[in-house]
Amino acid sequence: MRSSHRVFVQSSENRYHLVFMKTSLIILLTLAGLFVQTNVRAQKPKDLADFWEKQHISKMFPSNVRHRDLKNYLEQLRKLEIKVEEVGRSYGNREIYQIEWGKGATRVFLWSQMHGDEPTATSALIDMFAFLQKNRDKDWVKRMEETLTIRAVPMLNPDGAEIFQRRNLQNIDINRDASNLQSPEAQLLKRLRDAWQPHIGFNLHNQNNLTTVSGTTNQAAISFLVVEGQPELRNEEGNERNKRLTAAMIVALQNFIPGSIGRYVDAYNPLAFGDKFSDWGTPVILIETGALYGKDELFLVKMNFVAFLTALNALVDGSEKSFSTFNYDVLPKNGAGNLFNYIFRRANIVNNSGEILEIQVADIALNAMRRPAGEFVITTVQTTGSLVSFRGLEEYDTSGFYLFPKFGGALRAGTIGEFLFYKKDRQIDWKALDLEKQFPPDAIFSGGKWIKPLPKLN
Ligand SMILES: [Zn+2]
Repeated sequence: MRSSHRVFVQSSENRYHLVFMKTSLIILLTLAGLFVQTNVRAQKPKDLADFWEKQHISKMFPSNVRHRDLKNYLEQLRKLEIKVEEVGRSYGNREIYQIEWGKGATRVFLWSQMHGDEPTATSALIDMFAFLQKNRDKDWVKRMEETLTIRAVPMLNPDGAEIFQRRNLQNIDINRDASNLQSPEAQLLKRLRDAWQPHIGFNLHNQNNLTTVSGTTNQAAISFLVVEGQPELRNEEGNERNKRLTAAMIVALQNFIPGSIGRYVDAYNPLAFGDKFSDWGTPVILIETGALYGKDELFLVKMNFVAFLTALNALVDGSEKSFSTFNYDVLPKNGAGNLFNYIFRRANIVNNSGEILEIQVADIALNAMRRPAGEFVITTVQTTGSLVSFRGLEEYDTSGFYLFPKFGGALRAGTIGEFLFYKKDRQIDWKALDLEKQFPPDAIFSGGKWIKPLPKLN
């Protein structure tokens, strides 16, 4: 009995053990499955955005990043043991660098800031390389490292970046110098492409902050263009792939900026690098970063980061093939002209042109010049009249006030947008020499902001 009991107990223990083993195996397999799944899910746009939030090393607003700041960023990449090398010099003798990561057969080339005042992608590239290097233990990053070799030139135009201007120091627009190659920066870019023959190129720019998505007054925060090259030289397969990769980026970004993604409009231009790259055998995707009211420059860096990694990963895991070029084809084109930075509605404009002093009631649209973050913003009047079909990113009802252009004269397109506001029930001598002192204004708009805010009227 005892022994049989013992046997019974034993066998029961064995059976229990077996069941336990099986269960643990199932749990283990499930966990492994989950693990693989989380790894796959790690490429979800929201996860990519979270990675950026936690790990980004670019801390400054991109418009404030000068050549020395780029060098600091690159030093951080070098400390992570990422290959960074000087590949040339600008006309002003500033170093131009190339970053390289990965050891795969597919060659991807990205370049940013060939226009000095178009800085967003430079910071996003830095963050992307830092992320990839620090996360090589993730399966999908490991796969990317094995499949791709990624090279990038951040800030191709460091002289322009230094003074926040589009052109280089020779006053050449590098992106109109692809044929003539008169600038050292253009020569370098061509040399880097020709020597390496990348399979894909990403041409990274910024567009006007007031670019809209056509048919709307939404800002186009990001716009894409698959640059197809001239018909005789077209790489149809490469262009189709780039449309699918762009579709993947569009789908990803719709999680964050729905309705604010546009299709960049541009005709073939043999002087432009995107077109020439495509002609030379490297089909290019152009990414243009705009702006989004209420979101700062770093948010747009994050959008670039999500877009880059989405495209590269779709290329690596083959998921680009599951995307349709349709998402790209139906993307609404960029629009322009119906959105302004500021609209002052129903202003009582004091037009003081010498002898004649008249009050004109009209809406006023103002735009701000794009300047590095924190700098004084110059605003100028774009148009006046009844602007019902237009929208301002900021709009003010100024019907209860006189609006006096601070520098006098009659207000017209081109007038500097520095305004004094006076409640309509006040008696003001508009010809007073020291108007502001004799008649302190009720509100002052200067440098694109309210120095003295518009008071509420009862
Ligand atoms: Zn540009």
